[in-house]
Amino acid sequence: MGGAAIETARRLAEAAPEAEVACPICANTMKGASLVKHLDGKHAQMDSLPTRWRGTDHASQLTALWLGIASVALGAAGVALVPGYDRLILGVAVAPLLVAMGLAMASFAEKLPAALELKGDALELTTLFGLRTRRLRLPPKGIQIGQLRIWTESPVGGVNHVERMMGRYLRLSGEGSTLIIGAPKGTNMGKRWGSEGFTHGPKRQYWHINVDRQALVHLEYHLAARGGLQARS
Ligand SMILES: [Zn+2]
Repeated sequence: MGGAAIETARRLAEAAPEAEVACPICANTMKGASLVKHLDGKHAQMDSLPTRWRGTDHASQLTALWLGIASVALGAAGVALVPGYDRLILGVAVAPLLVAMGLAMASFAEKLPAALELKGDALELTTLFGLRTRRLRLPPKGIQIGQLRIWTESPVGGVNHVERMMGRYLRLSGEGSTLIIGAPKGTNMGKRWGSEGFTHGPKRQYWHINVDRQALVHLEYHLAARGGLQARS
């Protein structure tokens, strides 16, 4: 199936020699006419695209936050409701709180591994040390792209928060599942694929995994090979 994705890129380039296309393998952007030569010259030995990508877990920030809130709430409720056992209750509540804090710190520092893998007709996301899996059947029903942002403290201090752009996302949705894939840079999908295949979504503050731009380009061609994106007409 990875070979079909390269073929899709080749057909796209041949059909639109003047259009800007991304190399399906190294993700460099060039004109369609150059891509055909580039594929034959630079990547002649490559006959398929990767089907597994490593990234960092962004989804577990929320899990850590909820775990932290739950352990503080449980500890406080325990102390209030069962007098005389304060130390024991607090001891029990501190363990999940420490786990939550560790998880949050690792996730905010982009240190938690996560992965995306194409398995047959499904795209699978694993986060939280492989404990959590989301599967989405391809082609997805909806493809959306947009900007990622977070609110961060103002560099000049004080209580003001400023919006900081964190990159771009590709949001794929289908039967009962949604995957939001973030990358520091987008792929200019709109220059290659017809607007009927995807929509521009709102700015988002929550996403599941961070990958590099190259992975986003690979995914784009895998989606196109499965009919999820159509060349611009
Ligand atoms: Zn290339």
